Amino acid sequence: MTSAQIRQTFLDFFQSKGHTIVPSAPIVIKNDPTLLFTNAGMNQFKDYFLGNKKAEYARVVDTQKCLRVSGKHNDLEEVGVDTYHHTMFEMLGNWSFGDYFKKEAIAWSWELLTEVLKINKDKLYVTVFEGDEKEGLPFDQEAFDEWKKWVVEDRILKGNKKDNFWEMGDVGPCGPCSEIHVDCRTEEERKLVDGKSLVNADHPQVIEIWNNVFMQFNRLKDGSLQNLPAKHVDTGMGFERLVRVLQNKTSNYDTDVFTGTIAETEKITHKQYDFSDSKEAVSFRVLADHIRAIAFCIADGQLPSNTGAGYVIRRILRRAVRYYYSYLDYKTPLLFQLIHIIAKQFENVFPELNAQKDFVTKVIKEEEDAFLRTLEKGLKRIDEIISREKISGNIQGKEAFELYDTFGFPIDLTRLIAFENKMQVDEAGFEAEMQQQKTRSRAATAIDTEDWIFINEVPLTSFVGYNDLLTYTKVV
Ligand code: ATP
Ligand code: MG
Ligand code: MG
Ligand code: MG
Repeated sequence: MTSAQIRQTFLDFFQSKGHTIVPSAPIVIKNDPTLLFTNAGMNQFKDYFLGNKKAEYARVVDTQKCLRVSGKHNDLEEVGVDTYHHTMFEMLGNWSFGDYFKKEAIAWSWELLTEVLKINKDKLYVTVFEGDEKEGLPFDQEAFDEWKKWVVEDRILKGNKKDNFWEMGDVGPCGPCSEIHVDCRTEEERKLVDGKSLVNADHPQVIEIWNNVFMQFNRLKDGSLQNLPAKHVDTGMGFERLVRVLQNKTSNYDTDVFTGTIAETEKITHKQYDFSDSKEAVSFRVLADHIRAIAFCIADGQLPSNTGAGYVIRRILRRAVRYYYSYLDYKTPLLFQLIHIIAKQFENVFPELNAQKDFVTKVIKEEEDAFLRTLEKGLKRIDEIISREKISGNIQGKEAFELYDTFGFPIDLTRLIAFENKMQVDEAGFEAEMQQQKTRSRAATAIDTEDWIFINEVPLTSFVGYNDLLTYTKVV
């Protein structure tokens, strides 16, 4: 099955169970001070769970564009290094707003995976919440009993509060969850750890694909739990991971979700992707991953900038540029050349990218150009620092700040390069320098830049890469 067919199968299956297909919310969240980007399918339905709004449909199914590079969920450092954490990914989800509960959710997830998608039952594990006496949380007997109808008991593992209990915050709706893991180890690999049941953290080929959250409690201010009057189901399945399992690959990057961009990158760089852990191979994966995050965020109205959500995108983009510059020996803008591939690939799923293809391409190229103007000098500077500080093993806060301020190096890029050289960055020192600079620039100018850059108006820092930046226009 192609990835497009797999996505459609998921949506169709839940539609056949009475769910209404709804569109993905934008990946960029405006007007929520607690969250910059959508990081889970449930974000757009938060008000239903909190009881602030009544759901239009009791059963809903969708695929949601998610980004996990900031805040509570930050997977950036795994991306390209492991084979299944992305910056941007699609979360497939089915939802019950006060309608069905554990019995149906569990039976349907099993039916979809084993009967419709025909995943071998012997490859699947599930987890249920073991309970937490200290917190007054009970073992999820109900989920355990439902799973027992379908799964042999030694494949039902008990999980702790960290992995198997979901809370929106300190107060509010919460409840136990059940995860589904797929064991993609080869026979050989399996023999090595014979008899031991594994969950995702224990082997790179045993991966979590689906989380079913059962919202049944309301946590009050005093910490106590009440039963919710209406119970809800909130599920999230990693689309790229599901495709990997169904296409029988050992890496998400070997599926048709990513092979188009990887092939195009090979053509552009005249290099070959070799599936290994080499810096070159990691770079191919990083580019295939990052370009999606950058492109879909811009298409949803968030431009790269120096603050807030815009800076998150700029950080991802600069990380990608440094990878191709240093490891694929490509010294001119590359990312913008990949847009047409993903615009086409997603034209029927997330048409907003194809509709703004030229604009997105132009913004990305300008961003790459601007960073490439200072990157070489910045890399020379960091090399000097690294050779000088080999013994201390530390990049000082002042130097990290200089790299940021003069050469446009986001702190996580400096951290990455330091890490590659087995060094550390004094991040507290860097933060102190940032604070000082903010005070200085507040004194110098009263204009607040927010998330947009208006070049001719705001000389934000002494960063030399933006002498002649384009003036962004706001997309609506
Ligand atoms: P993991 O333990 O692998 O980091 P998670 O427990 O943080 O995953 P959930 O918050 O439960 O993930 O999200 C639901 C599903 O979304 C996961 O089961 C997984 O399939 C998928 N998912 C989560 N994070 C990522 C990511 N960074 N890239 C791709 N898929 C992801
Ligand atoms: Mg995670
Ligand atoms: Mg997990
Ligand atoms: Mg999970």
